[in-house]
Amino acid sequence: MMGDKYWNRELETLPHDELEAYQLVQLREHLQFAYSRSGYYKEAFDLHGVKPVDLNRLEDIRKFPFVNKQIERERQLKKPLLGDMAAVDEEDVVFVSASSGSTGIPTVSPFTKTDFDEYQDVQSRLFWAAGMRPKDRYVHALNFTLFVGGPDVIGAQNLGALCIWAGTVPSERLLFILKEFQPTIIWTTPSYAWYLGETARKQGIDPAKDLAIRTIIVAGEPGGSIEATREAIERLWDAKIVDFYGISDIFGACAGMCEERNGLHIAEDHILVEVINPATLEPVADGERGELVLTTLRKSARPMIRFRTGDIGTFDRQPCSCGRTHGRIHIAGRLDDMFIVSGVNVFPSDIEFVVRNMPELTGEYQVTLSNENYATKYKVSVERAEGNEESSEAIAVKVSERLKTRLGVRPSEVSVLEANVLPRATHKAKRIVDLREQNTPKEASVDHARA
Ligand SMILES: [Zn+2]
Repeated sequence: MMGDKYWNRELETLPHDELEAYQLVQLREHLQFAYSRSGYYKEAFDLHGVKPVDLNRLEDIRKFPFVNKQIERERQLKKPLLGDMAAVDEEDVVFVSASSGSTGIPTVSPFTKTDFDEYQDVQSRLFWAAGMRPKDRYVHALNFTLFVGGPDVIGAQNLGALCIWAGTVPSERLLFILKEFQPTIIWTTPSYAWYLGETARKQGIDPAKDLAIRTIIVAGEPGGSIEATREAIERLWDAKIVDFYGISDIFGACAGMCEERNGLHIAEDHILVEVINPATLEPVADGERGELVLTTLRKSARPMIRFRTGDIGTFDRQPCSCGRTHGRIHIAGRLDDMFIVSGVNVFPSDIEFVVRNMPELTGEYQVTLSNENYATKYKVSVERAEGNEESSEAIAVKVSERLKTRLGVRPSEVSVLEANVLPRATHKAKRIVDLREQNTPKEASVDHARA
């Protein structure tokens, strides 16, 4: 594989029909395994009146019931620690990660030795597609405590890169590592990459000149796929942003950008992708926006059959010019972060798209949601770029116009603040302030128009 463009040429460039034939064989076995070994899947399939042998083609996956985070949590409580969705005995489990538990008890994600090794091979594949090679020095700046992304560094090590296990250290310490070790690749979130670059500058370090970083891998926020956000961070660092997508219930990273950076190739040999309308639960047409539903094909510690991710995006099966045949996902945002204004579904990433594309602004923003006569209103606060001398009114009008064009609905108000007034995010940005007395019922529908 050395000198090759692909980590695993044969697998990554397999014609899509052959990939689907492989998925079908894997899926049949996997359903049978889940049904015979997991108390939950036995019960759920029986209740639903469906059996693994009912799957004759990939589309038959639609006959099977969905799982979601809530079911995962309930079934975990039923049989701690691993829950009865697990399909192996605890003695076969070698690693568990756990979600933060900010909205309930933490859910654990178990791996057998084989699951873990295969997961790391997928990480190596994604790192390789991101441009990492054995000559690179890689600094892994993700949380190691329970977080599924922590051990992803092993995938980089297996690839042959020199790995620095930094974790989430204070910025001062991380900047020290970047200066002294001169790594070429880092993985963090988009907001932290921005924050860290700005912090470096304040300390007299020019990230573009004084540091060797040429690739920044990001995940956890849609920013890495919003071109203007990406470009702003890239200019600051003189580095290339590569977006990854992960889901703790499956793998650290499941998908990542190739050199074309037009969507994220998902490891279709491990994961079957469906996109559904979250209101009707029916599949949407190819290329339309909907909720991603993922099914594991091999992960045996805890199979995930039709897992509703809560992530809204599109799935593109068209061949990519990089030669990889695995489909590409484009993530718009979390279903939970979506809000509805006058019947239009709005994602913070759509607002970010507008704000980051205006040179009059710094690119930071905050959205405040409020209730007025039982309807949601959104107000947007932005910052004037340093040196800009236009009137606040003129800027506000422009922002309002562009939001109307992009989203279809105008904000109730645009406040133009001075630069550096809004809070800077460190790890995961929280840019939505929800002042609604009770969250308006979520019409679980998605806007297909802007897919
Ligand atoms: Zn590609």
